Amino acid sequence: MARIPLVVGNWKMNTTVAEARALVAAITRSALPAGVEVAVCPPFTGLADVSRILERSAVGLGAQDVFWEAAGAFTGEVSPVMLADLGCRYVIVGHSERRQHFGDTDENVARKTRAAFSHTLTPIVCVGERVDERDARQTERVITRQVEAATAGLSAELLGHLVLAYEPVWAIGTGRAATGMEANRIIGFIRSILATRDNAASAHTRILYGGSVTADNVAEFSQQPEIDGALVGGASLDARKFLAIISGFAHRTLA
Ligand code: PEP
Repeated sequence: MARIPLVVGNWKMNTTVAEARALVAAITRSALPAGVEVAVCPPFTGLADVSRILERSAVGLGAQDVFWEAAGAFTGEVSPVMLADLGCRYVIVGHSERRQHFGDTDENVARKTRAAFSHTLTPIVCVGERVDERDARQTERVITRQVEAATAGLSAELLGHLVLAYEPVWAIGTGRAATGMEANRIIGFIRSILATRDNAASAHTRILYGGSVTADNVAEFSQQPEIDGALVGGASLDARKFLAIISGFAHRTLA
């Protein structure tokens, strides 16, 4: 089963509406290479304008977080219904910055994941160990807990549609990326966890690597057979660098 590579830009809490419009316009100005899917995740404030610019583009739109209820008295939250209404195709769930600063737990991540699927959104669920967990050789244990919690109760069909991102916390925004071999090994490990749930579905699940991916190191990751794309933070704020990362994943055939 060939999995089409996916490259996702996480703009985090960056870009005014005008900057978001300019950035997405710069990304869509170039012809995107064939054989790779692309999505951008602006902050909530930029979604409506970016969505209009992407109307006739193959670039998908995603949000950076979602609440699990469809509507109601949840001041400050944004629901999956609202994101779908804006044209979102994806939503990032359980990013380590949400887990670290905003109290996202494994349980919340699971609720958000199920809510996204219930409203036609594809969740991009982030998992990854902190540096202290890595130093204590707890990486596999942490990843197993996070993956099992996020996928609990998902049907085999949804498991196959899920996107996961292995993002070691120590590699995010630090300029200290994992090596391609390390990332490939952990992503293979994540797929083996999914395979215990449903072997066939696990062959369809796209598992990205995230953490200081740049135009200079993308080849290290795109050459690895288990890595199905990248979740890109800092480098996705520069259209030229983001396009170079996309091109890096276009020149490969996945298993
Ligand atoms: C991210 O925000 O998911 C990320 C991987 O950031 P960066 O590429 O800046 O490390």
